[in-house]
This record gives sequence, C-alpha cells and structure tokens, in this order.
Amino acid sequence: MTEAAYDTDNIFAKILRGEIPSHRVYEDDAVIAFMDVMPQGPGHTLVVPKAPSRNLLDADPSIFSHLLSVVQKVALAVKKAFGADGVTVMQFNEPASGQTVYHLHVHVIPRFDGIPLKPHTGGMEKPEILVGNAEKIRSALQS
Ligand code: 5GP
Repeated sequence: MTEAAYDTDNIFAKILRGEIPSHRVYEDDAVIAFMDVMPQGPGHTLVVPKAPSRNLLDADPSIFSHLLSVVQKVALAVKKAFGADGVTVMQFNEPASGQTVYHLHVHVIPRFDGIPLKPHTGGMEKPEILVGNAEKIRSALQS
C-alpha cells in the first residue's frame, strides 16, 4: 500500500516552526525534545528530528545516529530527574501501529517497578505539571 505524503501542517511541524507552544527540554540543530501533553507517565518526553518525515519508514537514515544519541541523552536525564527504575523508548509507524501524529518522533518514558503505563493519548496533563517536569528534565540534562 502506498503511504500518504508528509503533511507540513501536522502538529509537530507546527511546534517545530514555533506556531504552537511546547514545553521544550532540549534543542540542537537537528533535534528537539518536549513534553508529551498526554503523558503515559510522569516525564513522558518526545524526541523529534527537525527533518520532515512521516515516521521511521520514510526518514533519511542519515538522521538516525544523531537522533538515537539524543534519545539516549534524554533517557538518562528522565531516569535521573524522576528517580526512575527504567525507561521505555517506543516509536510508532502508520495508523495500524498506533501512530497518531505523522512527523517522526520517539517516546521516552520513565518507568517504575510495578507501575503500568497509562493509555496512549489518554488525558491531557495540567500545564503547571508539564512546566515542573520539563524543568526537572532540563536540570538533569545540564548536570
Ligand atoms: P504517536 O501516537 O504518533 O506515536 O504519538 C503522538 C504523541 O503526541 C501522543 O503521545 C500524544 O499524546 C502527543 N501529542 C498529541 N498532540 C500533542 C501536542 O499538541 N503537543 C504535544 N506536546 N504532544 C502532543
């Protein structure tokens, strides 16, 4: 089946252009990371390459090495910031997999022994909680 083309008006493209706000924790020339507004756990962060692609399937493989190095950096930071026991890293491709926003992104979620993930795209988190969690992650990234 032929997949749809990249939509330049997807929500993450708008965040990348600064047209809608996000709680950013990291940015470099090629990648940004910000809080998921419907977190599956405290500290749920999205790592997003700036290069446009719908997902992993149509991305230029030359971006993967740096993207994964930022995923590792963010995973270490969220583990430290929240005193987590582990970190779930996940990534969805096309609707059948559960993808809902069509710009490549990697989920990084601190995990705690015995505590399950909340549902994917469940409830919206309060902005003040996201602000506080973003601050914790930024601090951990700098230390
Ligand atoms: P996907 O299902 O495509 O892998 O994940 C998309 C993620 O983006 C979901 O976890 C969802 O909660 C999150 N999300 C959807 N809309 C927004 C938004 O406007 N801002 C932020 N920061 N996250 C969003």
